[in-house]
Amino acid sequence: MSNTTIAERPPSTAVPTLENFVGGGWRAAHAQRAIDDRNPATGELIGRVPLCGSADVDDAVAAARAALPGWRATSPVVRARALFRLREVLEAHREELAQLVTRDMGKTFDDAFAEVGRGIESVEAAIAMPHLLKGENLEGVARGVDVELVRQPVGVVAAITPFNFPAMIPLWFLPFAIGAGNTFVLKPSEQDPLASQRMMELIAEIEEIPAGVVNLVHGAHDAVNALLDHPGVDAISFVGSAATARYIHRRAAENGKRAQALGGAKNSMVIMPDADPRLFVRGVLGSAFGAAGQRCLAGSVAVLVGSEREQDATRDAIVTAARELRTGDGADPATDVCPLVSPASRERLEREIEQALSEGAELVLDGRRDGGPGGAELAPTVIDRAPEDSRVLREELFGPVLALVRVPDLQAAIEWSNHSRYGNSAILFTSSGEAAREFRYQIEAGMVGVNIGVAAPVAWFPFAGWKSSIDGDLHANGRDAVEFYTRKKVVTERWS
Ligand code: NAD
Repeated sequence: MSNTTIAERPPSTAVPTLENFVGGGWRAAHAQRAIDDRNPATGELIGRVPLCGSADVDDAVAAARAALPGWRATSPVVRARALFRLREVLEAHREELAQLVTRDMGKTFDDAFAEVGRGIESVEAAIAMPHLLKGENLEGVARGVDVELVRQPVGVVAAITPFNFPAMIPLWFLPFAIGAGNTFVLKPSEQDPLASQRMMELIAEIEEIPAGVVNLVHGAHDAVNALLDHPGVDAISFVGSAATARYIHRRAAENGKRAQALGGAKNSMVIMPDADPRLFVRGVLGSAFGAAGQRCLAGSVAVLVGSEREQDATRDAIVTAARELRTGDGADPATDVCPLVSPASRERLEREIEQALSEGAELVLDGRRDGGPGGAELAPTVIDRAPEDSRVLREELFGPVLALVRVPDLQAAIEWSNHSRYGNSAILFTSSGEAAREFRYQIEAGMVGVNIGVAAPVAWFPFAGWKSSIDGDLHANGRDAVEFYTRKKVVTERWS
C-alpha cells in the first residue's frame, strides 16, 4: 500500500523536501534519504518525504519534553481556549485542507471535506476537557480522612497515523492529548503527509499553543521505531494495519509505554430480504466503494440473507447500481470512486482478484482497467461464491472489491460474521426491529450500524473496534481518549 518509491535524495529536486516541525519552527531533517509523494490520480510528484530516524526523533522529543512543564501547568481552561482557536483555524482552512487530502491521498473532494469535518469534530469534543478532567472524591473514609482522585497528563505522547485519513486521524489524538496537558509528537503516514504538514503550519500561527507542545517528524519505519524505543516518550497512539498494530503494541509495551493500537478490519454488511432497497443499495455502495474501499469501516462483505431468489435479487440491485459508479480523479466532481493510494496498491488488488478467481469464485462485476493517468484506478468489483474462509472473504484487501456471501437466515449471518478475527464494524439492513435488536445484541463488533453503511461514531464516543481490530484497551476519541491521555492519582488526606 505505497504511493512512494524509495530513492536517495538528490542535491536539488523539483519539489521541496518536507521539513520537520520541532519546538515551534521548521527544521531540515538530519535524514539523508527521502521518498517521493505523488498524486495518485495523476502521478504528479507533489512532495519529497524525508525518512527520519533517531536523530530527528530525538530533537522532537526533546522539544516536547522541554514544553511539558509549562503546558502541564497551564490552566485546563486556557488549554481549552487554545483548542477553540485550533477549531476556528481548521474550520477557516477546511476547504484548503480537503483539497490537499484529495491531491495527496486521492479521495473525492466531498469525502475529503467530510473527513476534515470529522477531524474538527474531535477538536470540538476535546474542548470539553475542563469537564472531562474533573476527578472524584469521597469524604470521611475514616475519621477525618478524605480521598481524592485527580487526573494528570501522561507526559510526552506520540501518534503514528495511516494514509487513509491523513487529516482526520492525527486529529483523533492531537486535541485530546494536548487538552489533557500532554505534549505531542506526530509521525504521519509517509504516503500522504501534506495535510499534517499544513496543519502544523496553521498551529505555528496559534499563539495559545506554545512552541514545542505540538511537533511533527516525517518518515517511515525508522522514525516509528525511534519513537517506540525513546525513553522520553510516555505513550503511543497508533492507527494502521492489523499486523503493524500488533507489532507497535508489543514493542511499546516491552519499553514500558502505554499504547493504543487500532488495526485493520473486515466488516460485513448483512442484508435481510425485508431491507429497503433505497437504503441498502446506497449504503452498501458508499461503504464498499467510497474512498475506493480504503476505510477501516468499509463494508467489504455483503451477507445476502434469504432464499436463493431473494439473495439473487439483492445481488442484482447492488451490481446494477455499482456498474453506474464513475471511477476517476477525486478532484473531478463527477467521480464516485477515487483511485487507490498508489499503482502498487492497484497491482496488489488485482492479484487478490486473480487469486479469488483461481480458487473458483465468480466475478460478477470486473473493475480491472488500465489504471488511469496515475496508474492507481480500479473500478468497483464484485465477487460471488468465493470458497469459505478464502482471503477475499476473511482478509482486509483495502480496495473497491465487494465479496458476496449467501446465508439462509439472520442467525447464520451473525454466526458467519462473528467467525471473523476482526471486530471493527458490522452493518445490518432490515425493516424489522426484532432483527435489529438480535443483531446488535449478538454481533461481535464494536461499531454497529443499522440501515447505515458506515457506522462511524461521532467524536464524543469511542472509535470502538473489537478483537484484532485493536491492540490495547482504550480507543480513540470519547472518554477513552481522556483515560488514555491521563494518569490517575489518588490522594488520601488527614488534616484533623
Ligand atoms: P500501515 O500499517 O502500513 O501504516 C501505518 C503507520 O505505521 C504509518 O505511519 C507507517 O509509517 C507505519 N508503519 C507501517 N509499517 C511499519 C513497520 N513495520 N514498522 C514501523 N512502522 C510501520 O497502514 P496504512 O496502510 O497506512 O493504513 C491502512 C490500514 O489502517 C488499514 O489496515 C486500515 O484498516 C487501518 N485503519 C484502521 C483504523 C481503525 O480505527 N481501526 C482507522 C483507519 C485505518
